[in-house]
Amino acid sequence: MTLVDIGIPVLRDAVDARADRPDVPYLLDRFGRIARDLRVSITERCSLRCTYCMPEEGLPAIPADRLLSAAEIVRVVELAVRMLGIHEVRFTGGEPLMRRDLEDIIAGCAQRLPDVPLMMTTNAIGLEHRAQRLADAGLRRVNISLDSVDRAEFAKLTRRDRLPAVLAGIRAAGRAGLAPVKVNAVLMPDTLAGAPELLAWCLDEGCELRFIEEMPLDADREWARANMVTAQQLLDMLGSRFDLVEVGRDDPSAPAEQWMVNGGPATVGIIASVTRSFCETCDRTRLTADGMIRSCLFSDHEVDLRGPLRAGASDAELAQLWRAAMWQKWAGHGINAEDFVPPDRSMGAIGG
Ligand code: SAM
Ligand code: SF4
Repeated sequence: MTLVDIGIPVLRDAVDARADRPDVPYLLDRFGRIARDLRVSITERCSLRCTYCMPEEGLPAIPADRLLSAAEIVRVVELAVRMLGIHEVRFTGGEPLMRRDLEDIIAGCAQRLPDVPLMMTTNAIGLEHRAQRLADAGLRRVNISLDSVDRAEFAKLTRRDRLPAVLAGIRAAGRAGLAPVKVNAVLMPDTLAGAPELLAWCLDEGCELRFIEEMPLDADREWARANMVTAQQLLDMLGSRFDLVEVGRDDPSAPAEQWMVNGGPATVGIIASVTRSFCETCDRTRLTADGMIRSCLFSDHEVDLRGPLRAGASDAELAQLWRAAMWQKWAGHGINAEDFVPPDRSMGAIGG
């Protein structure tokens, strides 16, 4: 096993890990990576309870006074783009559609940053009625989570019988021009056999499907290496129905490896976060719904942006805090290391 296999990136020559941070405006870390992709979680609340993410009772509510307001989110996103070199912004959660002011957040960002792609990761419940308004507000694309097209399996996995609402949301997104609609699926051993059916459905609907390996970020702490569905198991299962040819990544920092289906042009992606980790090319930075900067999904190291923001810090001061936070980013998550410890916050509380 190499260092890269266990999520440890190889140091790049350009940066000395022991040196002080060079005075550059962008979000550089000690390993030479630059964060260009911002994930903004806007709520911990959710309409589903996916077993690999949320506890049955939902996450503890963030007190209203700790949640960033729409205006605060817009200010922070704008400074991240203008001062820190962020190229694309994705809203997530929890479930972003749980916020009634989502359209205001999107419109505020789009008006100030018309050239920046604004995207959202969503379970699509309620999207049927909001897709057009969101597109009009400036949302460009959506990634929609759908793990099974079997209603009983979907209900078991998400603990809610809402498959029809999700399918209606996916179709509404396509009609509203939030295309190409990407579908994200996390498979569990129980749902692996349904993967070919899910791919067939996505091909019929013109959606780009990407499978994500389950990561140890479930609130119930039940993830076990031995029970997770690996990329290889998935490829074997899909191969029983489809002819797949590997075509690689869209760009070096894209987490999904692409496979051409039945001679193309359609493809299916696989994000093998656990078995083929890609920490060495990670270009992400995250903002939690309560205003904390996180440099990695798996690190508990957080830097408070909300406190200084509300205490009157200038954009330049907030940007400097963010730069310092990212300089501390660690090399990799080390999920496969024996002493791996999952982070305190689960996926729904960080923002996937
Ligand atoms: N509620 C929205 C949704 O489900 O798309 C956005 C938030 S959700 C946390 C973002 C993504 O994280 C989803 O695609 C979900 O499948 C994925 N996810 C959640 N828990 C995960 C885990 N333990 N391992 C891998 N992916 C996970
Ligand atoms: Fe909710 Fe998304 Fe987590 Fe499922 S994966 S429980 S939809 S936040």
